[in-house]
Amino acid sequence: LNSTDLTLHDLNHEFPTSNDDTHSSLFNHDDLVQINSLRNDTKSKIRESLRVIASQLNVYHLNQLSISYNGGKDCLVLLILYLSQLATTTTTDNNNNSNKNFSKKPLLDSIYINYEHNFSDLDSFIDASTLSYHLHLTNYSCDLIQGFRNYLSKFPSKKAILIGVRKNDPYSQHLNFVQNTDNNWPSFIRINPILNWNLKNIWFFILFLKINYCSLYNLGYTSLGGTNSTIKNPNLLKIKFALLNHSNNSSIQKYFTHLYNKNNKNNLDFIPINDPLQDHYPAFFLQNDLLERAGRFKPF
Ligand code: FAD
Ligand code: MG
Ligand code: MG
Repeated sequence: LNSTDLTLHDLNHEFPTSNDDTHSSLFNHDDLVQINSLRNDTKSKIRESLRVIASQLNVYHLNQLSISYNGGKDCLVLLILYLSQLATTTTTDNNNNSNKNFSKKPLLDSIYINYEHNFSDLDSFIDASTLSYHLHLTNYSCDLIQGFRNYLSKFPSKKAILIGVRKNDPYSQHLNFVQNTDNNWPSFIRINPILNWNLKNIWFFILFLKINYCSLYNLGYTSLGGTNSTIKNPNLLKIKFALLNHSNNSSIQKYFTHLYNKNNKNNLDFIPINDPLQDHYPAFFLQNDLLERAGRFKPF
């Protein structure tokens, strides 16, 4: 938590930062303008999301909340924001007993409904991140609605669930930060703090803060469904990509590549961007939000 907190502060420094000596040869003036504009945009998205989470932490106790966490990049970002906001709340309310308890026993309730045949890399990532973020995960193998019905009857104290949904997701453009579920769903409050984030914000956040993510994204998957309904995003095919690539996107790709290389300096399993064995670029090369699900045969 502390290290995440510290790196969130780093976001306040313009790029290139003083400890970043590789920039001068890599980035021209236009690159730096685009990188700093994305950094500022992501900062304001972070602030907005933290405000939503903070406001709901004033309404609900931790035992009334749960986070829907399926190991994907979006709920991973949401989880980090949730943890950061909890850390802030815990420090400022140091005399409050219930918060003290939390700092001793940091188990956050989370819910995962496994309704497809998963990639084993996704299963391993869910297991590993559940451990490292001290999640208390409840897992069901059934459809989403039935899963939440089961969850609420097992944990009747739960009133609200945090969701990593974004407005670019199917049928999500009219969602609010906080709202009830639809009529055909079991009744609870949906908290959607990252509604306004786009793909670039998600990848800036993850790469800048050096957050571990599911390895499938490095292979060119951009949206993770079941093994029988998900392929690598065809828009990331290296050959096709070269033809479609617009020059105004390349600064961010250059920067993400820089962060990716830097973050993986000591990683023996590192897949270099131009690895000849990989015919797709990593997920963070995709800039167009509308193409995120191009590797999915079903909406979800
Ligand atoms: P993704 O990017 O895969 O998912 C968006 C977010 O949903 C994830 O970041 C994660 O937080 C959560 N999520 C997705 N799949 C799972 C899973 N298998 N297990 C746990 N969390 C998951 N639809 C309605 O029409 N009306 C509703 O009232 C409604 N309420 C919902 C409440 C919750 C808590 C959730 C998780 C979903 C709800 N949905 C509802 C369905 C939602 O609109 C999406 O269809 C669904 O989350 C699948 O998301 P996706 O694959 O499009 O996007
Ligand atoms: Mg998503
Ligand atoms: Mg999904």
